Amino acid sequence: MLAAARQTRPAERVPLAEALGRTLAEAVVSRDALPPFDNSSVDGFAVRTADFAGGTATLEVTGEVAAGGVPAEAVRPGTCLRIMTGAPLPDGADAVAPVEWTEAEGTRPEGNRVRIGGAPTPGQHVRRAGEDARPGEEMVAAGTVVGPPVIGMAAALGVPSLAVCVPPRVAVVATGDELVDAGATPGPGRIRDSNGPALAAQVLSAGGTVLGPWRARDEERDARAALEKALEADVLLVSGGVSVGDYDLVKGVLGGLGVAWQFWKVRQRPGKPLAFGRRGNTLVFGLPGNPVSSAVCFEQYVRPALAALLGRRAVLRPRRPAVLAEAVPKAAGLHHFVRGRFEYGGDGRLHVRPTGPQGSGLYSSMLRADGLIHLPEGMEHPEAGTPVEVEWLPA
Ligand code: AMP
Ligand code: MG
Repeated sequence: MLAAARQTRPAERVPLAEALGRTLAEAVVSRDALPPFDNSSVDGFAVRTADFAGGTATLEVTGEVAAGGVPAEAVRPGTCLRIMTGAPLPDGADAVAPVEWTEAEGTRPEGNRVRIGGAPTPGQHVRRAGEDARPGEEMVAAGTVVGPPVIGMAAALGVPSLAVCVPPRVAVVATGDELVDAGATPGPGRIRDSNGPALAAQVLSAGGTVLGPWRARDEERDARAALEKALEADVLLVSGGVSVGDYDLVKGVLGGLGVAWQFWKVRQRPGKPLAFGRRGNTLVFGLPGNPVSSAVCFEQYVRPALAALLGRRAVLRPRRPAVLAEAVPKAAGLHHFVRGRFEYGGDGRLHVRPTGPQGSGLYSSMLRADGLIHLPEGMEHPEAGTPVEVEWLPA
């Protein structure tokens, strides 16, 4: 599935103010040195360490340099310059003595002499040109998700826009004759469609753009019309209709539209009927209709696929060690994704417990979850204290 998702995708340039959360299509390479010049990291006096043979020195203050200024003169033997944080280091100086090492109030001593009570070592309190970024250095790799520090670094480097991956277009189609809109009052036997809106939100949070969400009836012609249009997307998410019921016609209809199914059914709970296929470069996910199954399958399969499509370096969420706080019912031979609440215990370990009954129709079990507890296929009768792996769900 991930191999199918590793495609070369188009890139676009966006200004820094619009780059948050996007995925870098190209590395950010520093053209300049950062900082661009040697400068002081403290408020104090730019000095020559050779003047401190006795451990202290009394020096003549010949001028000052503030942030944004340039030194008017060099530091000579027996002299120093007042210097402020961020100001360029004057010629001749090889260190800065902080103002705290003098008896002066601030950097303005009485008269034009200052007694410095300690000896700076060469380079002390000096920020060297290029120590943060060297010219030509790759600062951020392609495939990185742009966070605030990437934006800050790009600005510092004079890179006003970033090349980012064009988000994959993800079509969402919820199937089911029972479904009505969130704003409607369901008639007898009907329910409101929750998977459409929830999947659309998951797609957005994963960096995709949403087409739809649309709905299709459990009827071949209607389903074919809706799915044919949706197949023009980069990714198609179909909810419902992939199980073994008489009206589960999604696999057949999509097969007729040229989708080659790669797998159907996974030894997992929830989400066993999951189907995955492709038509050309379009990835197709048949997600089980039960709301928890749909949400969990998105997190486990679709989110990593979208990350791979975006060219992200990290596509899988990290799993963390934890310990079960209570016994959990478990079917043998199935990998369980238990919706859990996580809490650090006094022992420093992460203690996790189910959010309550775990039926795949109980959306509240997802709503209240901090994350997913993995109970692998081979695990039987997990008791309180059993070590497990967990992953946090995004907010
Ligand atoms: P299905 O996978 O189509 O057999 O549906 C399984 C269960 O999920 C049934 O109880 C459906 O009513 C329910 N379901 C299917 N699609 C949705 C949806 N979009 N929103 C809420 N519940 C759904
Ligand atoms: Mg259905």
